[in-house]
Amino acid sequence: MRPFDLVEPATLEEAFHLLEGDDPAVRPIGGGTALMLMMKEQVFRPVRLVSLRHLAPQFGAISIDADHRMIRFGATTSFSELEHSAVVARHLPVVVRTMRTLANVRVRNVATLGGNLAHADPHLDLPPVWIALGAQIVIENPAGPRIVPAEDIFEGYYETNLRHDDIIREIRVPLNASQRASYVKITTRSAHDWPALGIAVRLEMKDGLAHHPRIVLSAATNKPTRLVRTEALAHGQPITPASLRELGEAAVSEADIASDSRGSADYKKHLLRVHLGRALHALALEE
Ligand SMILES: Cc1cc2nc3c(=O)[nH]c(=O)nc-3n(C[C@H](O)[C@H](O)[C@H](O)COP(=O)(O)OP(=O)(O)OC[C@H]3O[C@@H](n4cnc5c(N)ncnc54)[C@H](O)[C@@H]3O)c2cc1C
Repeated sequence: MRPFDLVEPATLEEAFHLLEGDDPAVRPIGGGTALMLMMKEQVFRPVRLVSLRHLAPQFGAISIDADHRMIRFGATTSFSELEHSAVVARHLPVVVRTMRTLANVRVRNVATLGGNLAHADPHLDLPPVWIALGAQIVIENPAGPRIVPAEDIFEGYYETNLRHDDIIREIRVPLNASQRASYVKITTRSAHDWPALGIAVRLEMKDGLAHHPRIVLSAATNKPTRLVRTEALAHGQPITPASLRELGEAAVSEADIASDSRGSADYKKHLLRVHLGRALHALALEE
């Protein structure tokens, strides 16, 4: 391995300074779990890695607003911190449940929320959950910060529209006491394999009807993708066997699903029909 610098700035300004220029071999590093694999495979040869670990405390904090309308997750929060947070368990149990099928404890102890988003592997578990929950991403840049919906940062397979000197600072998730949410990870080879399909769903139920659903498909598509036409069809519908069949067909015709080593496109479409129906049905029955 070629020698490289690992630098640990204490301020955002210092971090920007260290990322200056457009050399792709100079990058931020969160937990390093993705970067280390890329370095071992020699698909990434760094010149300088700019660690975000020592940035201001809010980069690593989980906090809830005083009016309980939003939870903020600092980008260097580790998966384990998320998994064991009482605030998250109480207000966003879907996030804690997602952690149970995610990697292993060694990875969860170091991988960070910012690195997970920026890596943009479509098989990752949290991005579809953030999108379903309506998360906003706070991105710092020397030209000024911006806030974008989580779905807007993904461009394609391992591709984002983040700029070289962008640093993800925070994930903001709006809270809604009447929402229900779930994430299903469907693996076809072994329980610990990467998913063939991930489905994240959130909705509210009012008088037996689904309201404001958000349905996000991952792993089977080249980026986590909201199925907006299916969401529109589900809004205001009762969850019945007939509506679930209709929604399953709508999802399958809307999603751009490709074949790969985890299954043919037809097989994954069948998985989508079945598991989306089950997820919506389970949410409708929740108390
Ligand atoms: C064996 C193994 C199994 C895994 N299984 C799963 C799984 O089942 N489900 C799952 O979801 N994940 C899984 N992961 C984790 C996932 O693949 C990524 O490795 C992880 O999410 C990346 O987080 P990180 O902090 O380590 O990122 P890093 O490796 O530090 O960085 C990844 C990318 O993000 C950039 N980056 C990092 N932080 C920021 C930031 N704040 N702003 C801008 N850019 C940034 C880096 O420059 C780099 O391009 C697994 C990982 C391993 C090693």
